Amino acid sequence: MLTAAHILPRPPRPDQPACGHVLDPAGHRAPRAAPAPRGTMAAMTRGTPRRRKQPRSASGTPAPSTCPCGSGQPYAACCGRFHSGVALAPTAEALMRSRYSAFAVRDEGYLLRTWHPRTRPAGVAFAAGLGWTGLEIEATEAGSAFHARGVVRFRAHFTDGGRAGVLRERSRFEREAGAWVYVDGDIDP
Ligand SMILES: [Zn+2]
Repeated sequence: MLTAAHILPRPPRPDQPACGHVLDPAGHRAPRAAPAPRGTMAAMTRGTPRRRKQPRSASGTPAPSTCPCGSGQPYAACCGRFHSGVALAPTAEALMRSRYSAFAVRDEGYLLRTWHPRTRPAGVAFAAGLGWTGLEIEATEAGSAFHARGVVRFRAHFTDGGRAGVLRERSRFEREAGAWVYVDGDIDP
C-alpha cells in the first residue's frame, strides 16, 4: 500500500467514485490525511463498463502537442503512433509509456487492446478529476524485442481534485501474438 508520505495531505472527498478503486475510504477518517490509492494505475481508473457514457478515446480529447509520457517528443511522433495503430510498441517500456499516455488522453480503446485477455476488464472508467501529470521510469527487466515477458517499475504523477500525488508501480507485460500487452502490477514495490 502507499503511505501518506507518497501523496500530499488533502481533505476528505465527498465525490469518491462509486467504483471504490480510487481512494482508500479509511483515509477519510483522519483529518487532513491523504487517502491512498488502493491499487495499480489500472485499478485507479478501472470500473464497471460504462463505455458509452465515458470519454472514449483520444478522438474525443484534444491531442497534446508534447507526448504525456515525458519523452519530450511530439505526441504524434511518440505514443500517438501506437494509439493510432500505425505502429506497435516495440518494447515493454514503450508499451508502458504508451499506456500511461493513453490514460492521460483517455484512450479507452488502446488501453483495452493492450491489456492481456486474461486480466482485461470489460471497460475503463476514467475518474472525473483525476489527471495524469508525469511519468518516471525507474527500472526495466527484460521486455526487449528478444523477450516474451517484461517488467517496468515506474512512478506515475497525478492530480486528483487539484491535489498532487504519486503512484509507484511494478507492472508485468507479456508478448501476446507478437504484441506487448499489460498483464498486471504491484503497487509500491
Ligand atoms: Zn510518448
